[in-house]
Amino acid sequence: MFSNLSDKLDKAFHVLKGHGKITEINVAETLKEVRRALLDADVNFKIAKDFTAKVKDKAMGQDVLTTLQPGQLMVKLVKDELTELMGGDVAGINLSGAPTVILMSGLQGSGKTTFSGKLANYLQTKKGKKPLLVACDIYRPAAIQQLYVVGDSIGVEVYSEPENKNPVEIAQNAIKHAKANGFNVVIVDTAGRLAVDEEMMNEIERVHKAIQPQETLFVVDSMTGQDAVNTAKTFNDRLNFDGVILTKLDGDTRGGAALSIKSVVNKPIKFVGTGEKMEAIDVFYPDRMAERILG
Ligand code: GDP
Repeated sequence: MFSNLSDKLDKAFHVLKGHGKITEINVAETLKEVRRALLDADVNFKIAKDFTAKVKDKAMGQDVLTTLQPGQLMVKLVKDELTELMGGDVAGINLSGAPTVILMSGLQGSGKTTFSGKLANYLQTKKGKKPLLVACDIYRPAAIQQLYVVGDSIGVEVYSEPENKNPVEIAQNAIKHAKANGFNVVIVDTAGRLAVDEEMMNEIERVHKAIQPQETLFVVDSMTGQDAVNTAKTFNDRLNFDGVILTKLDGDTRGGAALSIKSVVNKPIKFVGTGEKMEAIDVFYPDRMAERILG
């Protein structure tokens, strides 16, 4: 994960680490390399520029040139700034409501259905909840089938109405079913398209408005870099979602989505997906991720 970015940052600090005496030129050179590493990781230009400007200000404020271990101090400043960039504190999931309603949004192939299952499994095994999965994709019968396979594998009931072509009704009926049958979390998996289109956005907006979820989560494939960030912006403009789920972090993603998404939509990354199995879900900790990036 992020191996290219880690390597490049490591090289950037090499200049400072090797020197007993540091000059302002060394610091500037290091920050230039840091910026280049971020751009190579597909971080948006402005974000990368602001990032290094902030680190520079802090470095000067702490007088990095006169400290005994300027290399280490710079690594720490970059780590703190990376943590901040990815959201600072860990963001929890809101489990209020009776039942808690969670709406999943995102493009087809982003990992929505897989993540719906992972989240249900996590809430069932780690939080003692009784979740219900809801198949709200009215276009692809295969998607409904896929949710049943996922539900079966974790022992979670799936609600669907294959004949009903109204996703708002399906979601509302599912919540009624949950209330009547003792489910305390309802996870609504919605239809996704391969690209953002008006019809899909209208549909999910209608479902969102009708069921008023406690959590609206936007699922995005971390391999898609800046595209991920642009899609996040479009969904956020329409849904004002509560958090981001970054999937496929087990692949060697360059890191751009993880690093840019928070600054663009100002919503926290809540969980990450790290594989195809139901257990491959992690709460997102910005500081741990920063540490991992810096090796
Ligand atoms: P949806 O169309 O948004 O519901 O996406 P799916 O849940 O069907 O996922 C699309 C593909 O990505 C499937 O082959 C999943 O197994 C795979 N997938 C989902 N999440 C992850 C992940 O975190 N890591 C990896 N490696 N694959 C994932």
